[in-house]
Amino acid sequence: MRFIKTDILELLPDELEAEIERLGEKKFRAKQIFDWLHIKKCENFDEMTNLSAQLRTTLEDNFCIKPLKISKKLESTTDDTVKYLYGLSDGEFVESVLMKYKYGYSLCISTQVGCAMGCKFCASTIGGKVRNLTAGEMLQEYYTAQRQLDSGRIGNIVLMGIGEPLDNYDNVIRFIKLVTHKSGNNLSARDITLSTCGLVPKILQLANEGLPITLSVSLHAATNMKRNEIMPVNKVYPLDKLISACKDFSSRTKRRITFEYSLIDNVNSAKSDAFELYELLRGFNCHINLIPINYVKECGFVSSRKAAEQFRIYLQELGLNATVRRTLGADINAACGQLRREKAVAELCE
Ligand code: SAH
Repeated sequence: MRFIKTDILELLPDELEAEIERLGEKKFRAKQIFDWLHIKKCENFDEMTNLSAQLRTTLEDNFCIKPLKISKKLESTTDDTVKYLYGLSDGEFVESVLMKYKYGYSLCISTQVGCAMGCKFCASTIGGKVRNLTAGEMLQEYYTAQRQLDSGRIGNIVLMGIGEPLDNYDNVIRFIKLVTHKSGNNLSARDITLSTCGLVPKILQLANEGLPITLSVSLHAATNMKRNEIMPVNKVYPLDKLISACKDFSSRTKRRITFEYSLIDNVNSAKSDAFELYELLRGFNCHINLIPINYVKECGFVSSRKAAEQFRIYLQELGLNATVRRTLGADINAACGQLRREKAVAELCE
């Protein structure tokens, strides 16, 4: 049987300590190693120069570090957005998008290779889900992008790339625990946003974790009839159950929920849709983010910034606050899944 080495990046400090002791080393070495991995973000054991050569060899024999290969780096010419297509160790690909804001950098990362949720407007779900990403791979998305920066820190992480984070629950929670750990990156949980299409039992489970992250829910339609059409997940977890889970999350974590609403011409952007949204969310202290749908050839949906602005005005007239999200990196296919999809199509055509 082949011995599969543990990805050392995935171990929380107490787990790393236990492993290091098991190997007959002093406990404090674990702290040094954690620092090399998560603060200095090194890519191999040789860089860990305050460890003896013998310990480095032992680590090499027992663990692995799996850096990602930057397969493509697309830089927007209209803003500072950078999109990475990363190659994973098994030949699969995922995407991350780095965005620059006034207050610093934010990175949108993928949580799965592909997606099983089947949203009708989304490029990530074409071809279905291939596999979950490990916590180590998600960290590598972050560290690879951070290493590319000469200065400035990525202090904000958005789990809004390829995949459904709550369909990869355990790995995502581990990732969040690692990235917020005070001995490592020490990111604030508040600076982490998790976006879900609405897996109700997992939202309820997440509310119990005691992690005050920001929850973003992809709504996109305010009636079951409409939402069933564009988001199959709604047939399993309809709107009443979803909104009640959101209220539960919000009251338990004391965090305001964001609802994402992508405008699609002739589907969900009429004045009557705004009224239905108002009826659904009335009295719930939440935020609504409006986004003109990104055109995906295979899906065929279109919208415009103008339609989003108009929808915002409809909502405002009803007393519902919403913002139209700045679309960053539109010239580099920054919508999730598009780059990976393009690569798959190009390979089919080769
Ligand atoms: N599965 C999670 C996170 C990944 S998708 C979720 O559903 O929330 C990230 C966001 O992009 C979601 O709000 C999703 O609905 C949205 N999205 C997907 N395809 C899009 C497109 N073509 N245009 C605009 N938004 C899109």
